[in-house]
Amino acid sequence: MRLGALEAGGTKMICAVGDETGKIFEKITVPTKSPEETMPKLTAYFKEAEIEALGIGCFGPIDPDRRSDTYGYITSTPKPAWRNFNIVGAFQEELFCPVGFDTDVNSSVLGEVTFGRAKGKNCVVYVTIGTGVGAGIYIEGKLLHGMLHPEAGHIMIQKRADDAYRGKCPYHKTCLEGLAAGPAIEERWGQEAIALRERKEVWDLEGYYIAQALGIYILTLSPELIILGGGVMHQEQLFPIVRDYVKEILGGYIRTKELDHLETYIVPPSLEECQGIMGCLELARRAVDKENEKY
Ligand code: ADP
Ligand code: ZN
Repeated sequence: MRLGALEAGGTKMICAVGDETGKIFEKITVPTKSPEETMPKLTAYFKEAEIEALGIGCFGPIDPDRRSDTYGYITSTPKPAWRNFNIVGAFQEELFCPVGFDTDVNSSVLGEVTFGRAKGKNCVVYVTIGTGVGAGIYIEGKLLHGMLHPEAGHIMIQKRADDAYRGKCPYHKTCLEGLAAGPAIEERWGQEAIALRERKEVWDLEGYYIAQALGIYILTLSPELIILGGGVMHQEQLFPIVRDYVKEILGGYIRTKELDHLETYIVPPSLEECQGIMGCLELARRAVDKENEKY
């Protein structure tokens, strides 16, 4: 099958053509400007590629509920030009093919579950820590949506007493994203995150905040695997710090084989930064299945 994949991000749109095995034939990147400027470039690319279906993993919040009037819309996003934009409708009008639609983080977890290290697992959390913080949740064999979709980057966590930073989230100030996303690190310490590599205190605090969130996800969702991606997690020294704090925070209350081996439980992505786009290929494949179910 010739499938299209779109990882729609706040700064760039990654477009790819591939197949249902996760193979990527070609890929381009288009900067995210306004829909008027960006959409024609994307539709032209996918038209030319003669795809059978398209999968979109999108920045949000979005409406992924097929029964809803605003299905396929980017809804209350902080990016004004894209607010209430019917992205699925725009592609359907031009491409006349099935379109799968989910959050960017749900497509990343789907990529890992379908093609990567989470294959065969039933319950997986994928957290991205980059410009924002988000989590894709695969639970009991399905991507979790519920009333909307999880926004687990915005949970409130406890600020550490030695952290005077006021927090960056425009909605909640000191939620996880407000304390631990890349821009928060940079504002707190006054330097680009990448330049802070040698500053132990930076990554200790960061690891502590990430671990608090993971503690909450572990206790509420009981995942079998946690994958941490996004630009900030390129600081690999964070992994052991996060694992140590998770152990401390859980306090030995629950014992599982997974928690006995945190080095294989809290891990980086396994698909060389293609987990998102490969997840979109699987969204496209599933959209074809759904279309066929109708007949
Ligand atoms: P996005 O979230 O926009 O898709 P990224 O996941 O790359 O993109 O996140 C970008 C953020 O991650 C930046 O704000 C930057 O602070 C941080 N970041 C990117 N690369 C690194 C790195 N190597 N080390 C630490 N922080 C990084
Ligand atoms: Zn928030």
